[in-house]
Amino acid sequence: MALTSSSQKRKVAIVTGGCGAIGHSTARALTEIGALVVLVDIVKASIDGDSYYGDEQVFTFVADVSKFDQVHRVVDEVVQQFGRIDILVNNAGILRRGSIDNISEEEWDGVIDANLKSAFNCCKAVIPFMKKKRYGRIVNISSSAGRSVSTLGGVHYTASKAGMLGLTRHLARELAPHKITVNAVCPGTIDTPMTRNSTNKDELESITQSIPIGRIGKVDDVSHAILFLISDESSFITGVSLDINGGELLL
Ligand code: NAD
Repeated sequence: MALTSSSQKRKVAIVTGGCGAIGHSTARALTEIGALVVLVDIVKASIDGDSYYGDEQVFTFVADVSKFDQVHRVVDEVVQQFGRIDILVNNAGILRRGSIDNISEEEWDGVIDANLKSAFNCCKAVIPFMKKKRYGRIVNISSSAGRSVSTLGGVHYTASKAGMLGLTRHLARELAPHKITVNAVCPGTIDTPMTRNSTNKDELESITQSIPIGRIGKVDDVSHAILFLISDESSFITGVSLDINGGELLL
């Protein structure tokens, strides 16, 4: 795609796991504020059918973000095509259940790589370009699991999401002098296929009843919080984790 003068003025955002439920909602929200959105996902999903996909605002790359060389390739191509990266949303992730007795070393590595190493890889690849522009907004998708203990996932999931909060705080401190903010959101139970595929009806009902606000979250609850954290209005906010859980952790 050739850069037009209007596309040069637009913010360029990378959303990992962009073909999933929260990623999709985030991409839509970003297009509504005029950003050019690059979705990076290990699968290429049905987003192609969406009306906003065809208007040269959303681009998809198939890559495994747990692999640094694949991330590097995508980031280089994005910078070549669009000249900049302003926003990174580290959203890719997988949920695995199970107790420690039946979690193999391979499964541990798989969850940590997809949920945490992926964020390290993407930050490492985009930060040099953000530093050059002295501007950047990074939002990491952690979870209530990272603040407490996962309701659905195993110890690997909880550990990966807690790690995401450490990564957020550390990079926020390190990158603040470069005017790059790094924040996290911690969704509770959100109505997505990831949640529905890991629960049965009774379990979901009991989770819903345990949430003070009386419902599980919607994908837009998460994407609206992300929009705030990438907005100019939040330029003095860095290193925070924003709970999006209907009061779940207040009990
Ligand atoms: P989802 O499964 O719909 O989306 C996750 C996406 O990440 C998928 O499209 C998947 O293909 C992609 N992905 C996984 N591993 C990848 C890899 N190595 N490289 C590239 N892409 C990869 O799930 P979701 O519910 O939209 O969750 C999005 C994020 O939000 C995840 O990090 C999840 O842990 C987090 N989260 C979800 C909930 C919830 O209730 N759904 C709650 C808290 C946090």
